Amino acid sequence: MDSVGVAAAAPDAGPGPAWQSKCPWGAPSTTSISCSLADVMSEQLAKELQLEEENAAFPEVVAAAEGPFITGENIDTSSDLMLAQMLQMEFDREYDAQLRREEKKINGDSKVSISFENYRKVHPYDSDSSEDEVDWQDTRHDPYRADKPTTTPRRGFIGKGKDITTKHDEVVCGRKNTARMENFAPEFQVGDGIGMDLKLSNQVFNALKQHAYSEERRSARLHEKKEHSTAEKAVDPKTRLLLYKMVNSGMLETITGCISTGKESVVFHAYGGNSATEDKVIPPECAIKVFKTTLNEFKNRDKYIKDDYRFKDRFSKLNPRKIIRMWAEKEMHNLTRMQNAGIPCPQVVILKKHVLVMSFIGQDQVPAPKLKDVILSSEDMKKAYYQILNMMQQLYKECNLVHADLSEYNMLWHDGKVWLIDVSQSVEPTHPHGLEFLFRDCRNVSQFFQKGGVAEALNERELFNAVSGLNITADNEVDFQAEIEALEKMNEDHVQNHGKKLSTFSSDGDPPIYDE
Ligand code: ADP
Ligand code: MN
Repeated sequence: MDSVGVAAAAPDAGPGPAWQSKCPWGAPSTTSISCSLADVMSEQLAKELQLEEENAAFPEVVAAAEGPFITGENIDTSSDLMLAQMLQMEFDREYDAQLRREEKKINGDSKVSISFENYRKVHPYDSDSSEDEVDWQDTRHDPYRADKPTTTPRRGFIGKGKDITTKHDEVVCGRKNTARMENFAPEFQVGDGIGMDLKLSNQVFNALKQHAYSEERRSARLHEKKEHSTAEKAVDPKTRLLLYKMVNSGMLETITGCISTGKESVVFHAYGGNSATEDKVIPPECAIKVFKTTLNEFKNRDKYIKDDYRFKDRFSKLNPRKIIRMWAEKEMHNLTRMQNAGIPCPQVVILKKHVLVMSFIGQDQVPAPKLKDVILSSEDMKKAYYQILNMMQQLYKECNLVHADLSEYNMLWHDGKVWLIDVSQSVEPTHPHGLEFLFRDCRNVSQFFQKGGVAEALNERELFNAVSGLNITADNEVDFQAEIEALEKMNEDHVQNHGKKLSTFSSDGDPPIYDE
């Protein structure tokens, strides 16, 4: 089957690219962008905002609208382009509705009907009119199309007297109907009857067509659902608005696609724009980490932030949505500390609510491979090991941080060296579980390099001591762990007795935390 089947889904004579791009976050490999992101985004946004309005039946949608993103200051009325596009959408819908009314008026009960399908602006699947489902007329891409394509028998052979269609016509019609089956969606199995001299009565054809049409709609719905679950609402309309604003302001050039969808975040690749915000030069390629606004996954990470004294006071007062913003904020602060210490890591570009823009580690939309995925020569492996040992010490001593999720999954190999990423959960060593997290990091690193054949790699306990400067002498894991916990307990007691900010481990070079 050729492209006719696909074209059948498009009633418009034109290519209509806007609605075809269902998902603006296509695979990163798709470099050819036929329409600007702005078009896609704003149209989707307009659609979704409209949906939101219509779905008043779902109270959660309303609840979400009360969130921090839809307050007066945040609605992007500064974007003329987007407003114009949203208005255009509205206008197109009204135009189509009017067209439909005229079509009805002209056709009335007549056996011969005229279709205005080709003049419509919005794809019928986009419109919510159920009329489309019943009153379909297929005059598109018909291989047996008559010279005057705008007139086709409406319902076939039910007429009487002068209106009756002749026997001869029935044959032609039957063949025509058979041929038209080709116009059904590609996934609709019509068999190879098309090649034979099959004659389908209008009634049968209509029934088939109806079935094909509803199948198509069903699969479109399923597809949409799947797409939705992929991003798991991380990129809800308000997030899109936020991203759109970044593009619109010239800070970003284009958002090309999604690099990663994790449980807690979605990461996009973008080309940096040329507007320098706050004296910062925007890197040519950026990574946008969107922290998911679905809360479930963050529940089990509460402990990372709840006991971090930097966030302690705020934690109890905040609603969950704001806690998610704190993750983004935490990642930003931690990256800044690392940057200041000269540790290879993404450079923070900007933080907007739960969206963190940073420099992209990689090139030409291809992210640098994770250490777990890259095959290194034994020389590079050894080099990587010593670099990490060094970085862990720097992180601990100069940044006063423990990564807390350090493993070959969160280290990228780029430019012949290791880059640390994913530091939203990183804590200060004085965190009530800070040393335990450090020990876990050491175990991951040590195991990875020992398995990777680096003979010099310290074991996890040696590594722990080397990084922390502590001297825990236990020679087995259980005792070692127990000593770590005893140390943590001692530190906690100290904090309790002397006030939380007087901790012996505390040394804070952080910028002050502010609430928006
Ligand atoms: P998660 O919490 O989902 O693991 P990460 O920060 O680890 O979030 O990002 C997920 C993935 O996205 C990473 O494994 C990496 O492949 C990619 N990624 C994240 N940040 C960057 C960046 N700055 N440059 C390139 N790729 C990145
Ligand atoms: Mn990660």
